[in-house]
Amino acid sequence: MVTRRPLIAGNWKMNFDHLRAVAFVQKIAWTLNDAKFPLTEVEVAVFPPFTDIRSVQTLIESDSLSFSFGAQDVSPFDSGAYTGDISGEFLKRLNCRYVIIGHSERRQGHHETDEQVTAKTKAALKHGLVPVICVGETSDDLEEFGASAVPVTQLRAVLSELSAESEFVVAYEPVWAIGSGQAATPAQAQHVCAALRTVIAEEISTESAEASRILYGGSVKSGNIASFMREKDVDGALVGGASLDAEEFAKIVQFPRHVIA
Ligand code: PEP
Repeated sequence: MVTRRPLIAGNWKMNFDHLRAVAFVQKIAWTLNDAKFPLTEVEVAVFPPFTDIRSVQTLIESDSLSFSFGAQDVSPFDSGAYTGDISGEFLKRLNCRYVIIGHSERRQGHHETDEQVTAKTKAALKHGLVPVICVGETSDDLEEFGASAVPVTQLRAVLSELSAESEFVVAYEPVWAIGSGQAATPAQAQHVCAALRTVIAEEISTESAEASRILYGGSVKSGNIASFMREKDVDGALVGGASLDAEEFAKIVQFPRHVIA
C-alpha cells in the first residue's frame, strides 16, 4: 500500500510583498524549529504572489529550509504576446515545485473555464511543475446537484486530457467554505474526496488514485485540521486566511500531534 505524505499548503493570495514574505517564511521556520517539529512527516508548501517568489526561493535554498513553494497561477502558453501572464518555464527556472490551477477565485473572478484549467494543467506538467488542481461547488451547486457532482465533473474534464504518468495534487474546495469561516464537515470532505479519488482511478489509473494527494480547503484552522486529517481520503489542506498568520499556520502543520488514529 502506498503512503501519501500529507501536504499542508498555504495560499497567500494577494498578500505580503517580497520583504514581508521573507520575514514570514523565517517566522514559520523558527516557530516549527522551536516546537521541535521535524518536517519529515508533513510536506509544507507556500504559494506567494509572483513578485515574492524569487525572494522566497533565495531564502529557502540558502537556509536549506524544508519547505516547498509554488505559484498561484500559470499561463497556458510558453511565451509570446500575453501581457501580464507568467509562463511555466519561468516558474520552473525559479525552482517552483507546484502551481495552483483553477482556484475558485480565478474560475469566478477571471471566468476561467474547465478548458482553460486543462490547458494550464498541461502547461504546468510540460514544464515539470506539479499542478494543484482546484475543484469545488458553489452553494447553489450544492443545493441543486449535491456536493460531489460539480467537483467530479470539473476534475474529470482535466484528467481525461492527461497522460498516465502525470503527477498532480487535487484540492477539493467548496466555494461556500472559502473565507467564510464555515468549513465543510469532515464527513462531507471525505465523501467528496473519495468521489474524486474514484475519478482519478477511472481517468488515470488505480495506481495514480492510490498515490495522488487530495487536499481539503475552506476555512481550515488549527482547531479543525486534525478532524479533516483523520479522514481516509483527505491527504492535507489548502489553507487561505489561516496561512497568513505564522503561529496559526505552524499549528496547522503540526496536526499529527493532535490526530489520534
Ligand atoms: C483558499 O483560498 O484556498 C482557502 C481555502 O481559503 P480559506 O482557508 O481562507 O477559506
